[in-house]
Amino acid sequence: MSSNGHRVGVLALQGDFEAHARALALRGVSAVEVRTAGDLDGMRGLVLPGGESTTMLKLMEGSDLGDRLTEFVRGGLPVLATCAGVILLAREVRHPAQRSLGVLDAVVERNAYGRQIESAVVDLEVCDPDELGAERLEGVFIRAPRVRELGSEVRVLARRGDDPVLLRQGCLLAATFHPELSGGSPVIDLFVRNVRSGL
Ligand code: GLN
Repeated sequence: MSSNGHRVGVLALQGDFEAHARALALRGVSAVEVRTAGDLDGMRGLVLPGGESTTMLKLMEGSDLGDRLTEFVRGGLPVLATCAGVILLAREVRHPAQRSLGVLDAVVERNAYGRQIESAVVDLEVCDPDELGAERLEGVFIRAPRVRELGSEVRVLARRGDDPVLLRQGCLLAATFHPELSGGSPVIDLFVRNVRSGL
């Protein structure tokens, strides 16, 4: 546990949860690997990492982990979802359609940037530099989803061209890219600030 007691759960079923744990540790926050519903007890925040959303859903089958994650997100503590994590939380998933927890008011299309540019590092347009605490932002996209529709409660903090790629819905931050793979990403900094202030 970090000295101020800010323990953050990182969903660790599959995917790049270790990179998130390292990014948090560099900022003095202890990451706790979450594999069962009980692992979420006492967490002050939660990260849903990138990986393969279909596999994550499969690994959750038959347990109450999905319900507990939904409850946690609804409970209002800070949450950071990245890439497959955004797909898990979306209201609707297309291409192909799959189940989701439905707590982020967005429709997403999986693997929507085409084969040739499935993976790319892109300079993003920061829509709200004050909130992000940075004017510039890099996005590492790996077989990323594209946001097709957004609910009115969702704010866009950054775009890639016309596409919203960094979203905020209450205490939930959702990035279709991988901030944990960009050294010193302001997105992780913002999440950690939210954890420290309980926002
Ligand atoms: N394409 C993956 C999915 O559909 C997401 C990729 C990622 O998380 N980097 O779940």
